[in-house]
Amino acid sequence: GQCVTHCPTGALTARDDTGCVLEAILDPAVMTVVQVAPAVRAAWGEGVGLSHEAATPGRLAASLHALGFDKVFDTDFAADLTIMEEGSEFVEFLGSDRPRPLFTSCCPGWVRFVKLHCPQFAARLSSSKSPHQMMGAVVKNTLADEAAAAGKRLFCVSVMPCVAKKYECDVPELATAPAGGGDVGDVAKAVPDVDAVLTVREFDRLLRTVGVNCADLPEASFDNPLGASTGAGTIFGRTGGVMEAALRSAAFLVTGENPDFSACDTTAATPEVPWMSRELAIGDVVVRIAVASGLENTAKLLAALESGEASFDFVEIMACPGGCVAGGGQPIHFNSEWGARRADVLNRLDAADALRCSHENPDVQKLYADWLDKPLSHTAHAWLHTDQEGWQI
Ligand code: SF4
Repeated sequence: GQCVTHCPTGALTARDDTGCVLEAILDPAVMTVVQVAPAVRAAWGEGVGLSHEAATPGRLAASLHALGFDKVFDTDFAADLTIMEEGSEFVEFLGSDRPRPLFTSCCPGWVRFVKLHCPQFAARLSSSKSPHQMMGAVVKNTLADEAAAAGKRLFCVSVMPCVAKKYECDVPELATAPAGGGDVGDVAKAVPDVDAVLTVREFDRLLRTVGVNCADLPEASFDNPLGASTGAGTIFGRTGGVMEAALRSAAFLVTGENPDFSACDTTAATPEVPWMSRELAIGDVVVRIAVASGLENTAKLLAALESGEASFDFVEIMACPGGCVAGGGQPIHFNSEWGARRADVLNRLDAADALRCSHENPDVQKLYADWLDKPLSHTAHAWLHTDQEGWQI
């Protein structure tokens, strides 16, 4: 079961979920499904003595298989799915007279912050759930028959760079309505998308405890059909990445062609503080975007929006400075900040990927063909969206 670990002074506590995950792996009546967030691939090796070059995504997949998970999926896939939903939502939003801006909603630290401190903006959060919640919803619905035929129940585990994801997966209103539809927010009938979240530190501790020799493992693949990913999904792990991925696909949705990637490149924007911004054309429309990370910067941006000093169409916020690469669940190096070098890893993986747009992900295309029909469909809403005004902190 879950337990609590205490820091040496007893001032801080963090929920430790390694015990319940091990119990699930060892239980023959359980089908364990694990997913790993984009930012995990840039940092997991640090806790098991691997360089960033040696800690490849293929070795990460092999390590998860070695721990005994039945299915090993990639949250990058769900990041691509998030972009299909959120990008479509943004294109619809652009044509509407809804108050600006639309805010990203994949960071639970930010969502909690805005609901607590600036609830007047909460209705402008994207209704799209975060990638690991979407993945959990897809797993619980599409693998239900396979698990039942094997006489097992599904148990979804997320390996995340984030402590706030532990809280997010427990929010009842983010659970998914039952297979075949149902209403968004039908809490009484819903099942949790994700059953347990491990931080990267917990994951690394599990690998060391079980004695997995990651350095000697041959590279393996993520399982299909929820394992394919694109470079757009990978850059979700750094500040500006969600915006950039959304713009790549929004441009395609409007024009039918992939954009020039440099036109969407948020790392090329002037690194202003407290936020960075740029204007770019999507079809005939000029879109004003802004990206901020860190809650101090976020508070300043919200104040500027409130006063009218700033005005944007689409805003990405990440609670951790630099985004998930510097998340609260990542390995800690005392007196040394590793976020920027981890972001370099993600940018390299994106640049090397044959597929760099979420709408090109073949497994995402298949999921729409087999189950969801199209972005923002009734089933997509039931599985992948939430009513942001319908739940409070
Ligand atoms: Fe979690 Fe921080 Fe990433 Fe937000 S930015 S999802 S709080 S790790």
